[in-house]
Amino acid sequence: MELSNVKEEATLKYQKKEDFNLLLDKDHFIYDVREDAETVNIFIKSDPHVCVCPNCGKESRELHSTYERTIQDTPLRGKQAYLNANIYKYECGNPECDRKVFTEPLPFVKMSAVRTDALNQLILGVSMFLSNEGASKVLSLIGVTVSNDTIQRLYNQIEFVDNPDIEEIGVDDVATRKGRSYATAIYDMKTRQLIALLEDRDGKTFREWLKDHRKVRLVARDRASAYAKAIKDVIPECIQVADRFHLLQNLIDRLKDIFKDEIPAEIFIRDGGILDTPPQKTNALKAPDEKVMNAVGYDNSPPRNPDGSMLEYDNKNRDLSSGQYKSRMGKGKKNRN
Ligand SMILES: [Zn+2]
Repeated sequence: MELSNVKEEATLKYQKKEDFNLLLDKDHFIYDVREDAETVNIFIKSDPHVCVCPNCGKESRELHSTYERTIQDTPLRGKQAYLNANIYKYECGNPECDRKVFTEPLPFVKMSAVRTDALNQLILGVSMFLSNEGASKVLSLIGVTVSNDTIQRLYNQIEFVDNPDIEEIGVDDVATRKGRSYATAIYDMKTRQLIALLEDRDGKTFREWLKDHRKVRLVARDRASAYAKAIKDVIPECIQVADRFHLLQNLIDRLKDIFKDEIPAEIFIRDGGILDTPPQKTNALKAPDEKVMNAVGYDNSPPRNPDGSMLEYDNKNRDLSSGQYKSRMGKGKKNRN
């Protein structure tokens, strides 16, 4: 196809879209995007609109002044992204309200936050599996500059919204520090949100929590009998279910016990048969049988390029002149002596 035809088809099919508002709501629009080597700056303007006073809830259309906010967002193509928002302050017209002026809210960021909700979610998501320091380093690779202290602050800000009228919950024990301290996590089965994190996992705090949540009629729980007993004592009519994960875990644990009794800890197999005694250790490296190699036509010559030159391997794991390799070799010798 000719280039002019391709271009014509592209103009018909792919209309250039100036409207970036899929990122925002109807009251805000993007008017400029600027990019340099490390950052992408997106400029947002607010359309004058009806705004609700956060203090009294009364609607206002009275603009007071403009206001600029810079908010760090999730990275764009590995670059740090900033939203530069030019928004409005409104006057509250309610004479009984203490708040004379208020700043309009933005749909993607909390009132006085410097990072978008999406970025905070990304940071928390990454640091969930790493130390704060490790998360800070990994995030810097993809264009998020955040210190490990900030990550800790974000964690400290997490609040659980408990619901005293909740009817269906999931309960599980979680390690807050692996192998050392445990907690009891309670989830809302409908929203899948964590609504409470209780101090122990022996059912003591869970029992107290249940007493304040007497509408609970269904609990999906793990196998811990401590939870089962607490539920039975506090809300006897409540239905208890074990989830599939825990049922499978029960089954596997039982099977392991059976196999442990039946099968010895070590089994030695040679040439398809089971040995009665452990095999003798041998350090001698057996050279390949030349007769066998010749019979199958094995070509033991080094591989070559199509032009006949020797094919060189680039193996970065065996850079014999590297400092790391030398020091390791030195250590190995010491150990052998
Ligand atoms: Zn007000």
